[in-house]
Amino acid sequence: MADQADMRAPPTACHVQDNRNRFKELNHKMADVLTKRQRRLNMSRVRGRDTQPELILRGGLHRRGIRYRLHRKDLPGRPDLVFPASKGVIFVHGCFWHRHNCPKFNWPKTRQEFWRAKIESNQKRDKSVREKLNNAGWRVQVVWECALLGASRRSIEDVLDLCEAFIKGEDDAFNEVAGIWRPPDGAPP
Ligand SMILES: [Zn+2]
Repeated sequence: MADQADMRAPPTACHVQDNRNRFKELNHKMADVLTKRQRRLNMSRVRGRDTQPELILRGGLHRRGIRYRLHRKDLPGRPDLVFPASKGVIFVHGCFWHRHNCPKFNWPKTRQEFWRAKIESNQKRDKSVREKLNNAGWRVQVVWECALLGASRRSIEDVLDLCEAFIKGEDDAFNEVAGIWRPPDGAPP
């Protein structure tokens, strides 16, 4: 039986070009597929639990002997950490998903309408959750991802100090802990 390859016409310049285009197309498709898969994975974490920054914070608080409840379903927005005694909750927010006003947030270049709708609905939900909690007498603190991860991160002790002050305090209806962004030329902020 003749080898199938032998029966094919030899590649012409046109074929070669065609193959190159196909290769390019394939590469684009693969990049797109990976991005989508990654995004789907991230998407599942939008309202998800146990994200990396969340685990860092939980570990630190635990080491300090601060106890909390996780994701109480009976509270609006299922806060990541709940401190019933001081009526405080902490959310650990990803800067992209919750549109933090920091350099970690950039609008995606593709599917702009989709992302705008998605992110803006997240923001609306965050605002409404915060209002509901505040109205029910709960104090809310948001710890942004950039405070815990990346070049902008604070020292973990710094973040823990700020959280502990919030947990033990009584005043703040709303409080945020963000990263420290230094200018690119290295000048002091
Ligand atoms: Zn941020």
